[in-house]
Amino acid sequence: MTQMPAFDKPKVELHVHLDGAIKPETILFYGRKRGIPLPADTVEELQKVIGMDQPLSLPGFLAKFDYYMPAIAGSREAIKRIAYEFVEMKAKEKVVYVEVRYSPHLLANSKVQPIPWNQAEGDLTPDEVVALVNQGLQEGERDFGVKVRSILCCMRHQPTWSPEVVELCKKYRQQTVVAIDLAGDETITDSSLFPGHVQAYEEAVRSGVHRTVHAGEVGKPEVVQQAVDVLKTERLGHGYHTLEDEALYSRLLQQNMHFEVCPWSSYLTGAWTPDTEHAVVRFKKDQANYSLNTDDPLIFKSTLDTDYQMTKRDMGFTEEEFQRLNINAAKSSFLPEDEKQELLDQLYKAYGLPPPASAGQDP
Ligand SMILES: [Zn+2]
Repeated sequence: MTQMPAFDKPKVELHVHLDGAIKPETILFYGRKRGIPLPADTVEELQKVIGMDQPLSLPGFLAKFDYYMPAIAGSREAIKRIAYEFVEMKAKEKVVYVEVRYSPHLLANSKVQPIPWNQAEGDLTPDEVVALVNQGLQEGERDFGVKVRSILCCMRHQPTWSPEVVELCKKYRQQTVVAIDLAGDETITDSSLFPGHVQAYEEAVRSGVHRTVHAGEVGKPEVVQQAVDVLKTERLGHGYHTLEDEALYSRLLQQNMHFEVCPWSSYLTGAWTPDTEHAVVRFKKDQANYSLNTDDPLIFKSTLDTDYQMTKRDMGFTEEEFQRLNINAAKSSFLPEDEKQELLDQLYKAYGLPPPASAGQDP
């Protein structure tokens, strides 16, 4: 029944949202337990309502979260459990290292303004959310043998949350947190320049917190340029529309900027239209630095293999390219150098490749 995986080797994933990677069973369980109404009461029906088969507009996509986030947000037990189950899910996909991201504020119901998902005020703060996710991830690491780190997201429409996000990155940096992200609607004009976000990213640079930014998924190349020049991002979430500005693209190629590509996501969100060449085809041609990622597998009804199948089947990706992009993902991970080298050695060994002579260095 199950299809052969397109790349049945150890993989690295750098762009996946914890709140977009929850098991439907867990949503139903906490909906029932907490008396929170859901749009369906079986896994199949729930997947029909919150899952996507056809491209939807951004508002249509975002509306999916409204259905199920109330069942999880504000519950200590649910938050820890989704983090733990996330690691189990990745182990099944042969992911050996993953960086998972989320907004602590969107899972809280206290000390967050406004309180998300129409929740009543409770006593779960963004700070405690991070502590709970860390516990779930660390228990998952121990039980499933996947190395996991986390990224805390600022939200474009809530710049007042961002200063706290960077403080949480600093506070929990020894407990899985490695970086800051900026997520949400990048078409909000000049939202990369909102003082809350700029200050948070400046503080990240000052205190050695790594940085990524969602940019150029649906937004113009200017959003990418602001992410690079103003927010000093080290990686780009998606980044497809960089290609509309050749000068910017060649500058980023020269800098070896990493693109976190999410192929199946880009189809369902309309970030990519199938009558055009996918940005990742160009990235491959140019031997750019990029990875393949799921983004929101709950909503896209996918696993990481979906993204590998799609690029293999429709874009002619080879085993060799899959190896190359995973090695690049490891090199562009936010691990400290020694742990990065360990991860790279693990990949070289699994792929049957000799480690490069000057270990860890690009030629
Ligand atoms: Zn994303």
